[in-house]
Amino acid sequence: MLTLILPSEHHELLLMALRKAGRREVGGVLMGEHIGPNLFVVREMTVHRRGAFASFVRRIEDAIGKIHAFFRETGHDYARFNYIGEWHSHPSFAPYPSRTDDLSMLQIVQDVAVGANFAVLLIAKLGPGGELISTVHTYLPDGARSLSELRIERLDKNDR
Ligand SMILES: [Zn+2]
Repeated sequence: MLTLILPSEHHELLLMALRKAGRREVGGVLMGEHIGPNLFVVREMTVHRRGAFASFVRRIEDAIGKIHAFFRETGHDYARFNYIGEWHSHPSFAPYPSRTDDLSMLQIVQDVAVGANFAVLLIAKLGPGGELISTVHTYLPDGARSLSELRIERLDKNDR
């Protein structure tokens, strides 16, 4: 099973984005570091507001500048630092992938231009107390989808 570590700074960023968006969907791209077998840390997270209620459309071009900057900063070490997936909010329903989410993720993971051998989807919403409620699913090019674990951790930035 894949484990995704969300450093506390990105946890804060996510909570802030969810609060700011209210009932509108927000989402973005997750860039990460491979730190062990099936273990990834989120190192960069883009936040894009989506206008239409419940219709998150992935637009990687919104994130392209940030992705290129991430590759530059991490020395183009793609085996270690790379695109790991997507996140978006479900402000008014349970944070589980919809049929459309499954189809978009499958498209991403099967896209030869993306060249990913997996992609994660983090779906988040705010709980009644303002806390983060989320799920992470991992998608494989063969169509398999599995539930993954999200861990929120304070990590030393220097271990990059
Ligand atoms: Zn969704």
